[in-house]
Amino acid sequence: MGNRESAYHGIRERIEAAGADRPGGSGEVKLVAVSKRQPIEAIRALADLGQRDFGENYLQEAIDKQPELTDLPLTWHFIGPIQSNKTRAIAAQFDWVHSVDRAKIARRLGEQRDPAMEPLNVLIQVNVDGEQSKSGAEPADVPGIVAACAEYPTLRLRGLMCIPRPGNVAAFGQLAALNASLAEPLPDLSMGMSGDFEAAIAAGATIVRVGTALFGARDS
Ligand SMILES: *Cc1c(COP(=O)(O)O)cnc(C)c1O
Repeated sequence: MGNRESAYHGIRERIEAAGADRPGGSGEVKLVAVSKRQPIEAIRALADLGQRDFGENYLQEAIDKQPELTDLPLTWHFIGPIQSNKTRAIAAQFDWVHSVDRAKIARRLGEQRDPAMEPLNVLIQVNVDGEQSKSGAEPADVPGIVAACAEYPTLRLRGLMCIPRPGNVAAFGQLAALNASLAEPLPDLSMGMSGDFEAAIAAGATIVRVGTALFGARDS
């Protein structure tokens, strides 16, 4: 087995084990391979091993790479900060968006998603670290963003997402508690990266976003 293949299978096994260990049994955990700053060949190699879900942070980079991969049945996740002038392209090019942090962004995506396409799967990014991080909705603003998403049949609200500062694994439990406190708790929690995905799964993650542990260090 090559390095990449053993890294991939190793991560898959750790995800499965962490899911099986949590109270209430496993429940499937989706692995999003974060391919920002990774070349086409690296994405293709992982796809050859069976990986389908890929996450990108930078719109232009994603738009440059996607046309070279249209022969593969990939599912694309946008996980980076969203400027409002980028929503149209995100709505056209992605299957999932993890980083919706304002009602205005949800509305633009809802208006711009082609109704002939599958609904865009949406997660609301929440700032669970308080002043430590700059992006994400305040927890108190989440119900308003939920309501904005519900106005659009072109959106399918799936859950909440967070990017806590490294080491703040308590944030995962806070995101799960916030979800449980909603009038209608959402099915998905996107949380956990290379350094902390097992802790995130223990706290209830249904989606983990892993980059360096799969691909090695990124080109800078
Ligand atoms: C880069 C990134 C990841 C992956 O981080 P790694 O530490 O490389 O696993 C996950 N989520 C988001 C939002 C990112 O920007």
